[in-house]
Amino acid sequence: MAEPGAKVVPLKSRRCPTCRHPTADRYRPFCSRRCADLDLGSWLNEDYRIASREEPDTSLDEDEPGPE
Ligand SMILES: [Zn+2]
Repeated sequence: MAEPGAKVVPLKSRRCPTCRHPTADRYRPFCSRRCADLDLGSWLNEDYRIASREEPDTSLDEDEPGPE
């Protein structure tokens, strides 16, 4: 049972995944741009492929319902 209101998350309880400090609304989910850059850097190093998922190049084919 998934409630539609489940997407409402308590931002006040969010913590910076980099340094565990309370997040800043401007840089969420991080506390500062520095932490955001640090985390982004690690992501790019470990799995840079995620950054390319925003490219509509392949998603268009997947979302297109084929006629049956
Ligand atoms: Zn931080």
